[in-house]
Order: sequence, then C-alpha cells, then structure tokens
Amino acid sequence: MTVEPQVKGWCPGAHRPMLSGDGLVVRVRPRAGRLTSAEALGLAGLSSTFGNGTLDLTSRANLQLRGVSEDDFPTVLATLEELDLLDQDADLEARRNILITPFRKSGGIEDRLTAALTRALPDLPPLPAKIGIAIDTGRTRVLGTASADFRFERDANDGLILRADGADKGVPVTEETAVPALIDLAQWLAKRVTPDLRRMRKVVTATGTPREASVFPVPMAARAQPGPVTAGLLVGAPFGQIPAVDLVRLLTDTGAPAIRLTPWRMLLLEGVTDTISASRAGFVTTLGNALLDADACPGAPYCPAASVETRTLARRLAPRLPAGLHVSGCSKGCARSAASPVTLVGREGRFDLVRDGHAWDEADEADLTEDQILKILTQDTPEA
Ligand code: SF4
Repeated sequence: MTVEPQVKGWCPGAHRPMLSGDGLVVRVRPRAGRLTSAEALGLAGLSSTFGNGTLDLTSRANLQLRGVSEDDFPTVLATLEELDLLDQDADLEARRNILITPFRKSGGIEDRLTAALTRALPDLPPLPAKIGIAIDTGRTRVLGTASADFRFERDANDGLILRADGADKGVPVTEETAVPALIDLAQWLAKRVTPDLRRMRKVVTATGTPREASVFPVPMAARAQPGPVTAGLLVGAPFGQIPAVDLVRLLTDTGAPAIRLTPWRMLLLEGVTDTISASRAGFVTTLGNALLDADACPGAPYCPAASVETRTLARRLAPRLPAGLHVSGCSKGCARSAASPVTLVGREGRFDLVRDGHAWDEADEADLTEDQILKILTQDTPEA
C-alpha cells in the first residue's frame, strides 16, 4: 500500500525554532539569499558555540543551525539580531519565503523585485505557511524545480511574467506592476485554498489556471553544476550539510566577500575563481560528484523519528548508484519527495529497500542490515 505522508503546514524559523532529536533547529532566512562573509562567519561561530557544529543548507536556500539548547536560544537570537539576520517578528519571517536566482547581477531587477516584494508581504492575504515566491528572471529558468507558488520569470521576448506554479503560462507584468499582480494572484489563491489544497500547484490542478495567464515562460536551463560561473564559483555541499569549520576555511582561504545560497545544495562564492582552495576546504568543485545526486535526511540521532543513521551509508553507496539514491530515516521521506531508483528507508534499526519509488511506498525487500544492502546493491552495480 502506498500512503503519502502528511506534510505539516508549519515552517520553522529563527523566531519559531523546531524541537528535534538533538535540540532546537533554528532556521535563518538570509535576505535576498545572500550572506556577507561577516554574516556567514557569524553563523559558523553560532553553530560551533551553540549548535552541533554544522549548518544545513535547505531546499529553499536557507541555513539551519541544529542542536541548539533552549537555554542558549535567547543568546542565539540576540546574536542573529546583531548580525542583522533576524526579521522584525515571527509573522513577517514566516511570510518571507522568497527564493532568488543566484545567477543575477548585483543591484539588478532581481534585487529590486526582492526588496519591493518584501515590503509588500504584509499586504498579502493570509496563506498557508509554506507558500513561497521565486524570482527566476534570467534568460533561462533555473528555479523551476524548486519549491515556490508564485514565479516571476521571463518570456521569449525578455518580458517579465508572473506565473502560478503548476500553470504552463503566466501573466505579463512590469517591474512597476509586479507587486499588485502578486497581490491579485495571492487573493485568487486565498479564495481557493482548502485543507486539502494548500499549495498553488494543487489548486491549479484542481481548479484550473487563472484566466489572464497567456504567456509561456522561457525554457528551463540544464541543472546547475559545481564550477565557475559568471558571478563567481559554485561549490557543492553533499546533503546540504556544511561543517562550520569548513565554511570558515572556505571564506578565509578564497577571500569571498559574500556567498549566495541556492536550493541545490550549492553555494555561490561571489567573485571567486579559486577552485583549489574551495576543494581543500571540503567542498565539491567539479562535475559529476555522485554525492551531490544522493539525498539523505539527517536521520538518527538528529531526528526523533529515525532509528537509523543515514548519511554515512549514503556516502558509502552514492558512488555505486549514479542514477539516484535516497536514504531516509523513516517513511516520511523528507529529503526527497520524488521517486528514486533506490530508496532505503529506516525502520526499527534496519532498512527497507524500495526500487523506483518513494520512501512511503511498499518495500521490495525489508529488514536489511547495512551489510545486506551493500551486498544487494553491489551485485546490481559494481563500483566504477
Ligand atoms: S524522513 Fe528523516 S528527517 Fe524526516 S521525519 Fe523521517 S527520519 Fe526525520
């Protein structure tokens, strides 16, 4: 039997941390998806002093501190305020789900739109907490697979459009009309949200596209890969897990003035070309590293729902499974919602193996130890 897990309608933030197996998870939402080197070093220091020594890069390009105690939380919050990484209040923080293409010119339309949309957030109608906005206004789209409900994109004539996620066409807008158009579309969505239809894509699938939508967006770009790009250097962090000491070394040794966060478990180091220092700091700088294609949730001991450790196994298996590996601490499948050729699901200290499916699908083989898994998968695909 296949049972898709229920997704909680609440997003943790800095003001509203989430209690996990190893303490509080404090999610920081950098403004415009960017941190100066000083801000990033400040976060690394917080993680080393009050957290578990790692930062998690999320699929919405935010950073999480893990393992913060309730006693230390007020100090963490005060430090975030000193670093200017804290929103005025929890409600504003919860609404500020804005994802911005990392491939932008500083001070360009993406930055201006982000600032205008941030100012307009209080004018949006009440919407479910996970609702987000993508600003993906380059010549090709790069955020098409990232979570967002309202998408600002380009059409074939370089015009700006606003597209509802799930719709194939969008509404032409200008920089001046972008905010009113977003408010209109948000009101359209708010009227259609139900307990079962809480994201734009589901609403569009169930009720149809907004009538004025008439323009196709430009095509999607190929998936971004580590390496040099116009704005700097993209470097990968397997599973989105960034040891604080590695981040300090990365920033110090490359001299990056700022980093841009991406939803692809990669950081863009502004103005950097030094791949050697980035690689020495422990980051992936070359194409084709299988670890960047594998997903593994934090697992035990970090998540109370997990009975198995996940990432060590994923590191061992990823080179053998270039087509896709998902190691999930339980059947909720937080790390990957799409189907995967191989999914290993923790259950009572062992793993179930699902082929070509999701973490919540019926297992093909059950109650496996790590050694049994290695044996089965090694038979399938000898290591390259
Ligand atoms: S999938 Fe992983 S992170 Fe999500 S609830 Fe299960 S064990 Fe926890």
